[in-house]
Amino acid sequence: MKSLFSVSVLIPVLSISMIFNSWAQNPDFPWPEGKRMALSLSFDDARASNPDPGAALLDEYGVKATFYVVPSGMESDIAAWKEVVASGHEIGNHSLYHPCSGNFVWSRNKALEDYTLERMRSELSAANEEVERLLGVRPEVFAYPCGLTYVGKGERTQSYVPLIAEMFLSGRGWKDEAPVDPYYADMAQLTGMEMDNKSFEEILPLIEAAAENRQWLVLAGHETRTEGNQTTYLSMLRKLAAYANDPANGIWIAPVGEVAKYVKEKRAEMEGNLNIPGISRPAEGETIYLTAEKGKGIGPDIKYMPEWNAFGWFTAEDRVEWDLDLPEKGKYEVWMEWSVSDEEAGKPFVLTSGEQTLEGIVKPSGSWETFQKTKIGELALEEDFNRIIVASGEDFDEGALMDLKALTLVPVGK
Ligand SMILES: [Zn+2]
Repeated sequence: MKSLFSVSVLIPVLSISMIFNSWAQNPDFPWPEGKRMALSLSFDDARASNPDPGAALLDEYGVKATFYVVPSGMESDIAAWKEVVASGHEIGNHSLYHPCSGNFVWSRNKALEDYTLERMRSELSAANEEVERLLGVRPEVFAYPCGLTYVGKGERTQSYVPLIAEMFLSGRGWKDEAPVDPYYADMAQLTGMEMDNKSFEEILPLIEAAAENRQWLVLAGHETRTEGNQTTYLSMLRKLAAYANDPANGIWIAPVGEVAKYVKEKRAEMEGNLNIPGISRPAEGETIYLTAEKGKGIGPDIKYMPEWNAFGWFTAEDRVEWDLDLPEKGKYEVWMEWSVSDEEAGKPFVLTSGEQTLEGIVKPSGSWETFQKTKIGELALEEDFNRIIVASGEDFDEGALMDLKALTLVPVGK
């Protein structure tokens, strides 16, 4: 169990939330140069004040931002927008016509309720082409107009998030209430927190909380002026840029696309060594691998050990849960991969799935470092949602139950 020692070194203080959020057991996200967080500034619609004084002010501090543009908004001053690009800022797509809910009176003749996915796709492509024609760069990132992610109405409503996932590196929302978790976030639904009409003193707590949690804060605004509606104040931007540039604050400030690429790269490097619980969706007739990486550890003393890709188990109240979404019902052989020392072996375990239970004894595997795989029984799983839970079969006062690496479910018929 020496592996547990290094986990506790990584995370010296266990909080209550960790018991329920096992992904909080992952190491702090590795932002570049040991920074504590990422911060992106973004501005929507291609407002007239964005190139100057907005981008011009950021240039004084060497800060690069993301401007999500509606191409028609730039037409009055293309030269100024070319300057924005030349200074190294990112240009994102914010749609061709800025369609929002018809509840906004100004959006009634371009209401999302009247859109189809195909119309959205063709307008997003047209917006990309128009930006490229005007500025010579092709947007890789998108921000949802009004933060709305649907087309259609009632029973025929559809999400256009999958379209954004297909066409862009990332999609950003609006007036969201939490920063982006770099391990967990869906790139097509990055949260965007409002920075319009706020003082630096109002923004600072958001930054401090994101730094504390090693997150990515994407701030979103519109005009860049000294006052007015839907306006990110220049006085706030000055203080924020100076604060972000102070190395003591540990902030990596960069455009959305740059951070999104970095996050994707790091996630790929760490794949297999992180605990990110989530539902498994196997195809029909496929062998199902319920790895510890995808399991949810719940209880007072259960820990995911990245060096072993396994859960280590210390009390009878601890359990691991896996959620499954199956295309059809079927029977499966259940294989368990575990390790245990000779002296801790022999305690009962129980696996449950709905009304079914499989009981067994944790047999010796040789050592904590030697994993064995054995068949522990058969389960009939349902179409749609299944939850599989592994726990101790009885109370125990001392020692450990086992290290559990994976369950493998092999289909054996209907
Ligand atoms: Zn907008």
